[in-house]
Amino acid sequence: MTTRYLAVSIDVDPVPCYYRIYGLGEPPEELRDLVMRRCVPRFAEVLARRGVAATFFIVGADVDVHVLGGRARAARALLGDLVAAGHELGNHSHGHPYEMARLGADDVAREIGACDALLREITGRPTAGFRAPGYDLSTTMLAELARRGYAYDSSIFPAPGYYAAKAAVMAALAAVGQPSGAVMTDPRALAAPPAPYRPAMAAPWRRGQAPLVELPIAVTPWARIPAIGTSLLLAPPWARRATVAAMRGRRFFNFELHGMDLADAEADGIPGELVARQADLRRPLADKLAAFEAVLDQALAHFEPVTLRDAASWVHREIC
Ligand SMILES: [Zn+2]
Repeated sequence: MTTRYLAVSIDVDPVPCYYRIYGLGEPPEELRDLVMRRCVPRFAEVLARRGVAATFFIVGADVDVHVLGGRARAARALLGDLVAAGHELGNHSHGHPYEMARLGADDVAREIGACDALLREITGRPTAGFRAPGYDLSTTMLAELARRGYAYDSSIFPAPGYYAAKAAVMAALAAVGQPSGAVMTDPRALAAPPAPYRPAMAAPWRRGQAPLVELPIAVTPWARIPAIGTSLLLAPPWARRATVAAMRGRRFFNFELHGMDLADAEADGIPGELVARQADLRRPLADKLAAFEAVLDQALAHFEPVTLRDAASWVHREIC
């Protein structure tokens, strides 16, 4: 029988990322580590009940005591516990620049290198994987990852619907004179293979001979509907179940979520200006938790859970 693998990953984007996307300036300082402090433990609890080890993509600045002081120390202790429980930490850059795909080699090396060094202090082992801010992978990033001996990248998101929605939000913000801090993702990723592959160094959205593998974020067969937390946790139950059922047409379900997906706007004190702009923040936490658990339980009936690091080893061994 063919074994199917489920990898759960959580991008722990801090609140300032969302303020940048919506052109809101800087958030109140006390919200800087909110996602780490309040949301990450909620993920850990749900995953622990099912014995699932996941991959948490960490923004280096959030665990950098030179940036966040005592709050970075608290974050490091929390993440150390996650690692001890079997979870993986992945590199999500040091400062989460949305324009990272446009940065030169030196800046890219600094972004990846600074986060890498901080994660290594926490885990005591080399980091295996990277996810680009805004799913926007560049050849410069791929070259830096290859140079560092990373086993995988997991940034490519071949979902036409996501691009259309992102373009619409950015156009709407520009129209009201409040330009988004987000940057449009390279559309060539739309044509990328939706299943794990070895990318070309000069064109990461195509197959080639890179020493590391690409683990694309989940889209369903044929229609390429995104199977990610932000959409699945908000979908009506029938649509959610149909999307997860469709993923059984793939051997690998790379289920990506954001830390913010398990925020509780009221209890966590998220300002109204952000709640007004982000639909999932208007949904009660209990509903989102129930939807997350339903996705996991449905998927775990058919897929074996792995970290992305383990998924990459499987791909290196068996696929390419
Ligand atoms: Zn991110």
